[in-house]
Formats: sequence, structure tokens, C-alpha cells
Amino acid sequence: MAARTGAQYIAGLKERAVEIYVSGERVKDVTTHPGLSNGVHSVAKLYDMQHDGAADDQMTFESPTSGDPVGQSFVMPKTPEDLARRRKMMRRWAQSTCGMMGRTPDFMNVTMMAMAAAGDYFAQNRPEFKTNIQNYFEYIRENDLVLTHTLVNLQRDRSPMPMPLQDSTDVALSIVKETDAGIIVRGPRVLATLGPLADEIAIYPARNHQLPPDAQGAYSFAFALPCNTPGLSFLCRESFDLGRSRFDHPLGSRFEEMDALVFFDHVLVPWERVFLLGDVELCNNMPFATNRNIHSGHQVVTKQVVKAEFMLGLANLMIQTLGSSQLPHVQQMMAEIIENLEVTKACLRAAEADAEFDQWGVLCPARFPLMVARNMFIRSYPRMAEILHLLGSSSLMALPTEADINGPLAQEINKYLGTDTTSAEERVRLFRLAWDTSCSAFGSRQVLYERYFGGNVEQNSVVLNNLYDKEHMTERIREFLMEE
Ligand SMILES: Cc1cc2nc3c(=O)[nH]c(=O)nc-3n(C[C@H](O)[C@H](O)[C@H](O)COP(=O)(O)OP(=O)(O)OC[C@H]3O[C@@H](n4cnc5c(N)ncnc54)[C@H](O)[C@@H]3O)c2cc1C
Repeated sequence: MAARTGAQYIAGLKERAVEIYVSGERVKDVTTHPGLSNGVHSVAKLYDMQHDGAADDQMTFESPTSGDPVGQSFVMPKTPEDLARRRKMMRRWAQSTCGMMGRTPDFMNVTMMAMAAAGDYFAQNRPEFKTNIQNYFEYIRENDLVLTHTLVNLQRDRSPMPMPLQDSTDVALSIVKETDAGIIVRGPRVLATLGPLADEIAIYPARNHQLPPDAQGAYSFAFALPCNTPGLSFLCRESFDLGRSRFDHPLGSRFEEMDALVFFDHVLVPWERVFLLGDVELCNNMPFATNRNIHSGHQVVTKQVVKAEFMLGLANLMIQTLGSSQLPHVQQMMAEIIENLEVTKACLRAAEADAEFDQWGVLCPARFPLMVARNMFIRSYPRMAEILHLLGSSSLMALPTEADINGPLAQEINKYLGTDTTSAEERVRLFRLAWDTSCSAFGSRQVLYERYFGGNVEQNSVVLNNLYDKEHMTERIREFLMEE
């Protein structure tokens, strides 16, 4: 099958009877569920973009096996142009969601590409695991499937951990049995963002939640499954799409990607879907050895640029509307957003400019600019949301709804809420967007997402510091100290 359309994606979701629960009830059909369907349609729009005639060559490429046009984010980059085309495609998807859907399918497409390219890494565990990961990648590429992933075990008693990066295994997804058909797994995992909107779920080792050396075989694995596999259930947080209009909840009514706890109740993972098993060291090294997190970093930072642009545009329109753009401290805050945007953009450009072939023959963006951009965004996104608070203040609360605009106080609203540059309705529309970005449940979740979706800032800083080669700089200090 070639790159899917939105309608094909929706039809696929309808066919799968995945066990999904929201607010105590099983979801019959995610594509029509009031808390989920708008998110489904936003993802469907991304798939329709693959068939936008004007951008076709950017959105797809020719499959090396079927010759069909397949999604650009599945490309195995071999040239700088491949990386640039992939970035442009990912940017178009990110723009479609204002950067507010973090787990659009390109995130997992680039991740699985990196793992498949590094097939020999998996063969070190068992020779057939190379075939498994490569067949799986081809399967998702040719069928243009949506993946979710859950890499982290549920939090519980973090305090006595001996090492800063290790994940304790007392409440952990684990293997209970190996059979001729495959492995049987049981336990919870967090968090499957996009889970209810996905076709498949992938489980593999996290970069920043390492397994303790004594984790043994039961906790070290990588595999993937269809979301409708028996025994698998998704427990969603409450939806932040409250069924309100685009006017009232401009973001929540469009971009609810949902986060879910996943329970595995004696789930059978067939052998052909197992990619790593029983080797703690191979699991812990996998994210670095395959460069999967560098390729996902390329997607993440592309999206961060779009999100920072969105914050800048929004902030600028807010201060124009309120007539505060000449105030020096307002300008300082605007400059902060500009700095965040420009540093993120520069890191993305540096990562592509310094790309090198890795040992798997893939042109891989440079690691450190992407790591730096990701770590910085963990701090800068919450600050940008705070800046919206500081710029908007009471306008984020003096905020009529669409019903109010047409209600008994319409005359007062029209008379008093207009400003020198905008009508009352335009002002309310703008500040409802600012509110949904920085104050609503949807907006607060965006801050939490940016803080944690890729691990927390402490863990990520430890990883960066451990990986960064500081020796030649240290040596220069030693030399200087010895100079006369
Ligand atoms: C909105 C959202 C979406 C997410 N989506 C996904 C997803 O799609 N897929 C997925 O796999 N995961 C997802 N996650 C989970 C994410 O990977 C984790 O939240 C992240 O790795 C941090 O792990 P944790 O939540 O267990 O927090 P912890 O690791 O427990 O850290 C919480 C805080 O405790 C402190 N802390 C505790 N233990 C340590 C330690 N050993 N070292 C350093 N600090 C420590 C730190 O101050 C840290 O900030 C998502 C999370 C959020 C919030």
C-alpha cells in the first residue's frame, strides 16, 4: 500500500477493536468518540497532506521495495538532501498542528528507521532479531501505520535507587514466560501518547531510564504489537477536548493527542515481533548505538522550531492588541522568545550541516546540537508559557465565550473589549488562543509534555554531560597551568 490518505487511516482505526477506556467506559469507536475524534481528524489531515499535489515530492519518496510513494519520514537518509527533505516534510506536519501534537507519526517513523538500519546491532542478541526489526520497519512503512510507544515503568519509590539513571523494576513490565509462539509479558507502562489513535505499539529501552545490571532477562526486551492484541488495554487520562467550539477552545478542540497508561495482561508477543531479549547491556546501549534518539531528535527539534515560532507570533499579536509593545520589559520578554527560537533553529541547522555517516551507513544529524536544543527547550517552553501569562495578565481571564459574544451582554462586550487595533471579537478570539496555549488544561499539559516527554531535565543533563568529550579542553587547562 502507498502512503495512506486520512480516510484510509480512519478506516484502519475503525477496523481495529482496541481496548481503550476513558472516564470509566470502554470506547466503542475512537473516530467518533467526543474526547478523541477531533485528534483523530487532525492526524488524518496529516495523511491527506501526503496527497497534496503541490508538495508531493516533499511528502513522499519511492519505496525501495514496492516502488510505491511512501511517507518521507520513513526515508533512510543517505544525502544532505534526504535530511533536508525529511525536515521540510516534518515541518509541514508540525505547522499543521502549531507544534501542539508532539507524537505525530513521523516521530516513530524516524525512530524505527534508525533501528532497522542498525539491524546488525540486534543480530548480536540473536541473528533472527535483525530480520525481525527490518521486516517490521518495512511492514509499517509499506502500510503507513501509526505507532505509539511506552518506554517507562510506572513511578514508584524512586528514592533508594543506587544510580541516577536507573529504573527500578518493582513495578515493571516483565516477561512471565517464553513459549514456542513467543514471549508472554505482564505489567503496566507509561505513557502512550497518541496510544488510542495508533495502530501499533512499540516497546523498547529508554535512553534515560536505564535498566539496573541485576534487571536480568525478565525486564530487558524490545518488541512491537498491534494495539488490538488480546490482553492489551489503554487507560486514557481525561480528555482535554471538552466538546467546545473552535472559538472557545481553539487548540483543545483540534489537537488532543491523548496520553494513556498501558496494561499488559499476559500478552503474547510473537517471536517475529521480538527485537531484543534478555541482554541488559544491549538494551541499555541500544538508544546510543542505533542513533534512534538522534533521528527522533531531528523530528523533535523541527517541531520545537515551529512551536517557538507559534509562541512568538502569538505573543507579538497579544502585545500589538494590548498596545504594550513599546514597554522595555515587554520587549525584553519578546527578545527571550526570539532567543529561544533562534538558538533552536541554529541547533537544527548545525545538526544537519555536521551530519555524518554512522556505522550503519545512515547519514545521521550531529548528536550534540540536537541534545542541546532538546534540553534547552525543557526549560524554555515553560518560560515561554509564563511570558504569555505576563503579557496577557487579566486579558487571559476577562475572556467571554462564544456564547457570551452573542449573549445578553453582547453590547457591553462589543463596546468595551475592543482595543485601538482590534474589535472586541478579534481580541477575545486571540486571547482565547493565548489562554488555551498557557492556562487551560490543554495548555498546562503542553508544559508538562515539554518538560517530560523525553525524560526529565536532570536525567537528560546527566546523559549529555556523560557523553560530551571534555578531555581536550581539560588538557588545555592542564597545559596552561604548567605554562611559565
Ligand atoms: C505529557 C507526557 C507525555 C509522555 N509521553 C510519553 C510517550 O509517548 N512515551 C513514553 O515512553 N513516555 C512518555 N512520557 C513519559 C516520560 O518518558 C517520563 O515522564 C519521563 O521519562 C520521566 O519519567 P518519570 O515520569 O517516571 O519521572 P521520574 O523519572 O520519576 O522523574 C520525576 C522527577 O523526579 C526526580 N527524579 C526521580 N528519580 C530520579 C532519578 N533517578 N534521576 C534523576 N531525577 C530523578 C526528578 O527531579 C524528576 O524531575 C510522557 C510524559 C508526559 C508527562
